[in-house]
Amino acid sequence: MAGLSAGGVDFGAIIERIQVREVKKRILLASPRGFCLGVDRGVKILESAINNEKGVVYVRKEIVHNVPLINYFKARGAVFVKEVDEIPNGCAVVFSTHGVAPSAREKAAARNLKVIDATCPLVTKIHEEAVKFKNHGYAIVLIGIPNHPEIIGTYMQAPDNTHVIQDENDFGKLDGIDGSRVAWLSQTTLDADVTKRIAGRLREKFPALKDPPRDCICRATKERQAAVKAIAGECDLFVAVGSEKSSNTRRLAEIARKSGAKRVVRVDTPEELDGMDFSFVNTIGITSGASVEEKQVRGVVSRLAGVGFNRAEERVLGEITATADGEI
Ligand code: SF4
Repeated sequence: MAGLSAGGVDFGAIIERIQVREVKKRILLASPRGFCLGVDRGVKILESAINNEKGVVYVRKEIVHNVPLINYFKARGAVFVKEVDEIPNGCAVVFSTHGVAPSAREKAAARNLKVIDATCPLVTKIHEEAVKFKNHGYAIVLIGIPNHPEIIGTYMQAPDNTHVIQDENDFGKLDGIDGSRVAWLSQTTLDADVTKRIAGRLREKFPALKDPPRDCICRATKERQAAVKAIAGECDLFVAVGSEKSSNTRRLAEIARKSGAKRVVRVDTPEELDGMDFSFVNTIGITSGASVEEKQVRGVVSRLAGVGFNRAEERVLGEITATADGEI
């Protein structure tokens, strides 16, 4: 900027000051984010069971994949088990939002357990579609993460007819299927674009492929992904709040990376950001998985305010709807 001066005024310094002001550190909050209706319902069901059941409330698998929330429910006395076999006869059991195999219901009945079902109704609909396809003699290609409880629950609705694939690399598993009666279903929380691509490739392999009657990827998942896509390109850093096991949180992090965020981290708690170098970061995007409470996001925002990110913009599917300066 040397030489940009006149009458004793250093224009270079003024321009530099303006530029510094323009790159004020800010947070972009992707909206919608956090709790979906299925998780909200599941968490309320467990809360109510703990409040109203007389004995210990058992929960088969994690009610939702959120470590701080699971710890909260453990502190309230809920006992989490892997299978119903671990539960004493006659006790109350809550089934997680991800859904269960029919065998879990049979075992619960055999042990005379009081079943409180928190399966998301949208997952139940996919179970029903799997059974319908099976009854009509279709082979079912189920796209999803093989060991995820939702995929296990859906697979077990029609295990003899269902073939789980993660992506095109698994197409070899489908050799020998009668191409005239093939349908596909998917996990509810996959990357919507990736799933569309895989289904397209599947149709090239099986031209008579039957689509699910309605999109398996739920609206909550698609909206959270679209909100991330809309702002990721502006972000030097993107923080996805949610647990390692949370499929939808991991997808949000991947989508942020693919959509232009320079760096992406997934955290359960604000403390996980401590020690991070923010010197080259001006804009931080934040989203949260469908199983994450808003107070967890607020914790992350407060932590970032402590390292200079005092301005936050709420971005509903990319559009600014609110801004806050100073203490957030
Ligand atoms: S992400 Fe979708 S399918 Fe999963 S619990 Fe939420 S609403 Fe239900």
